[in-house]
Amino acid sequence: MNFDFTPEQEDIRRAVREICRDFPGEYWRQKDTERAYPVEFVAALTRGGWLAALIPEIYGGIGVGVLEASIILEEIHRSGGNAAACHAQMYIMGTLLRHGTEEQKRRYLPGIASGQLRLQAFGVSEPNAGSDTTRIETRAVRRGDEYVVNGQKIFTSRMQHSDLMLLLARTSDYDENDRAGNLSVFLVDLHEAGNRVKAVPLDTMVNHETNVVHIEDLRIPVENRIGEEGRGFRYILGGMNAERILIAAECLGDARFFIDRAVAYANERIVFDRPIGQNQGVQFPIAAIYAQTEAADLVRCKAAARFDAGHEVGPEANMAKYLASVASWVAANVCMDTFGGYGMAVEYDIERKFRETRLYQVAPVTNHLILAYLGNKVLGMPKSY
Ligand SMILES: Cc1cc2nc3c(=O)[nH]c(=O)nc-3n(C[C@H](O)[C@H](O)[C@H](O)COP(=O)(O)OP(=O)(O)OC[C@H]3O[C@@H](n4cnc5c(N)ncnc54)[C@H](O)[C@@H]3O)c2cc1C
Repeated sequence: MNFDFTPEQEDIRRAVREICRDFPGEYWRQKDTERAYPVEFVAALTRGGWLAALIPEIYGGIGVGVLEASIILEEIHRSGGNAAACHAQMYIMGTLLRHGTEEQKRRYLPGIASGQLRLQAFGVSEPNAGSDTTRIETRAVRRGDEYVVNGQKIFTSRMQHSDLMLLLARTSDYDENDRAGNLSVFLVDLHEAGNRVKAVPLDTMVNHETNVVHIEDLRIPVENRIGEEGRGFRYILGGMNAERILIAAECLGDARFFIDRAVAYANERIVFDRPIGQNQGVQFPIAAIYAQTEAADLVRCKAAARFDAGHEVGPEANMAKYLASVASWVAANVCMDTFGGYGMAVEYDIERKFRETRLYQVAPVTNHLILAYLGNKVLGMPKSY
């Protein structure tokens, strides 16, 4: 068993770190204050080809695995940045890659790889379904060679900065005996959709471009359905393991950002004539969360390595997301404590990252639902969902 990253993986880490150096705390702070999209940062990542990490070379991407992709996202977060503005451009296309026809892949993937086509809106969540995706109500009715779609989505992120949206919709009635069935997945061209798809911005506690989406008589050509009718939820579930591993990496980056900052501050801040880090009440929580972060990282690496080797990684991917998000949230609080009142001063970036990392307790899946999955599917206890 080898626990070291390869020289190529370390090169990726260094290259992304280099890009992030051009986008320091001031940059992210200003975007946060203005609630603005980090256009320049996303353009720099796109130019470097990093958002095309998971797209095979034959379609214009870099063609590396989830482990390498996770290193890219981790570095962005460790630098103090926030990849949520564009991380979905990396992985939403996975549904198309795994289940699309060759014609669909040739039509879309090269544009997604170059960044000319932004497929980073993912319309799954709905107000009346919550975490129970099998209960979504947005309906796609087949009429000849097109589907007519009506419904509402919520928390559809990056929609105003997307050309395409991956949409999950109901194509037949809910069936208790086949809860994952009856849903289909479509690629929606947002330019062609015009005002049949209306995005209404939803302000949140973080700078995250997200929306309520109203869909009225949207017409989607049959050739834009991905895979078979009624199997869409299964396709999306297949992509969720990759997403969970990548989100775990962002959490690890956040945790390391908080630990780096806490250690530096604990060493330099003098109170009662000594560095505050000399006090065990300050030092031990930092050391403890450092150890927990390293442990979560091992699960991330195991999940990613097994995913890339083609194994089923539901338990590992879920545990990685759970452990890493718990670590980032504990690290955020430890860092806040270390900084005393200054943690709340905007100029230190701690309060911004604190708000940003809180999101991972609930999105893209809540930690409750991860524990429910582990309790039921892995440990065999009664199902609660
Ligand atoms: C900033 C942001 C961006 C997002 N971006 C997207 C996006 O791009 N696309 C998209 O489709 N969605 C997106 N989401 C939605 C996100 O995936 C959901 O918010 C999340 O899955 C939880 O769903 P909910 O908010 O409806 O909570 P609910 O399902 O209403 O749950 C509320 C609470 O009850 C708990 N709960 C519910 N059922 C159970 C159970 N059986 N056992 C234990 N606890 C339970 C939950 O864990 C949670 O704590 C985003 C959300 C946010 C906040």
